[in-house]
Amino acid sequence: MSTDTEQSAGKLYGVGLGPGDPSLMTLRAVAAIAAADVVAYHSARHGRSIARSIAAAHIRADHVEEQLVYPVTTESTDHPGGYRGAIDDFYEEAAARLAAHLDAGRTVAVLAEGDPLFYGSYQHMHKRLAHRYETEVVPGVTSVSAAAARLGEPLVEAEEVLTILPGTLPEEELAARLAATDSAVVMKLGRTFSKVRAALEGAGRLDEARYVERATMPGERTGRLADVDPDSVPYFSVAVLPSRIDAEPVVREAGEVVVVGTGPAGPLWLTPETRGALAAADDLVGYTTYLDRVPVRPGQSRHGSDNRVESERAEFALDLARRGRRVAVVSGGDPGVFAMATAVLEVASQEEYADVPVRVLPGVTAANAAAAKAGAPLGHDYATVSLSDRLKPWEVIAERLRAAAAADLVLALYNPGSRSRTWQVGKARELLLGLRAPDTPVVVARDVGGAQESVRVVRLADLDPAEVDMRTLLIVGSSQTVAVRRAGGEVAWTPRRYPEA
Ligand code: SAH
Repeated sequence: MSTDTEQSAGKLYGVGLGPGDPSLMTLRAVAAIAAADVVAYHSARHGRSIARSIAAAHIRADHVEEQLVYPVTTESTDHPGGYRGAIDDFYEEAAARLAAHLDAGRTVAVLAEGDPLFYGSYQHMHKRLAHRYETEVVPGVTSVSAAAARLGEPLVEAEEVLTILPGTLPEEELAARLAATDSAVVMKLGRTFSKVRAALEGAGRLDEARYVERATMPGERTGRLADVDPDSVPYFSVAVLPSRIDAEPVVREAGEVVVVGTGPAGPLWLTPETRGALAAADDLVGYTTYLDRVPVRPGQSRHGSDNRVESERAEFALDLARRGRRVAVVSGGDPGVFAMATAVLEVASQEEYADVPVRVLPGVTAANAAAAKAGAPLGHDYATVSLSDRLKPWEVIAERLRAAAAADLVLALYNPGSRSRTWQVGKARELLLGLRAPDTPVVVARDVGGAQESVRVVRLADLDPAEVDMRTLLIVGSSQTVAVRRAGGEVAWTPRRYPEA
């Protein structure tokens, strides 16, 4: 290559054309095509290109057209590298063809339906060329915006979260994401339609789901997703969960009570299922501390109370549900561990509530959260005991501690103490020291996941009851539990193998 004949390279444009209606192209897109010597577009082997048809009015006879024809559209190929190999070779060859034009000083516009950087084929060219040539990406109206516009319903408002999902994800993954989000758009329907429908149903959101086919293109169709015949769905269609703010209140024959746990602290610990149940509830019932962890939603009623009146709270929730409300009863941690699930089921088992549906959703309990922060102290058999003698006599607690310690179980101790219950930890330590070595590792986990989190490993003999409060969970090791100092602090773990007796 000699310098004096070298000319400056052409410019690469990735041109977003919008969702289909040519009048939704931007002025910038039209200008980019006008400036180009070469117009390139991807197509399947049948040769028709939706992108080209959108831009057709702007393509001149003197434009060089580069049709980038996918060698395979399904997963069957005789390429030695399989589908991936065939596609990779295709992208390399396509990029090389465009590079040859650019090297010759020709400006190249790669057409992209919708937006070029949004699930677009253009990106494969961009990644191979943009670092080598001057490049401009012209944004386009995506199918997300087009679908919402054609439905004519708000998509996301205020604090709502929009999740965009490819329908090619596994059904369970889709269901989890759909349960946890407010609004959603599922792309790439076609053959994935039945699976996406099942995921919407699994997430309890099929009734809200809308369907948009070929938004702004000829043959457009919109409607309730539940009414769509799966065999009629093309690739150019999306599923939409619109904004739920101001959504028509659902009139239900029967409500339900869902008992959920927030995990030990903030939103990081919520399961997608719980997040979904909290968002879908009409009423939230629970101890104020736990309700405060749940994001406020317009239209939802909150019924906070103190921590004492569990059966009244349960009755209140069941009464609301009987009147058709969807009620979430909120606990910390897991709702079935020293928490509201039992209280709700106790009351629900009475004749008068026999018809009210009750579901319990699992949550991350404090023992699991604390154990993870400390290492793996619950790696072998363990027992869970509450040290609170408000609901059972201390003699029962002491007997259980003795039995569990004699069986060499690791102990997860909930409710070890509070402002008014101060002596239990000292007594428990004394009792356990009779059955365990003074060096036994004890995890003192306070406010796990919260702002005042502290997780320490101490010797059983050094356990100081004054350090323990209502937000603390204790894990007392077995004879096998090991504490090791590592960079970053002390970790405790219990081996999975127990020595032969
Ligand atoms: N349902 C809850 C337990 C309720 S009993 C759960 O599954 O976690 C309340 C006790 O749980 C507290 O006294 C404390 O021992 C423990 N606990 C709850 N959240 C905690 C946290 N973030 N850190 C440490 N202990 C916690």
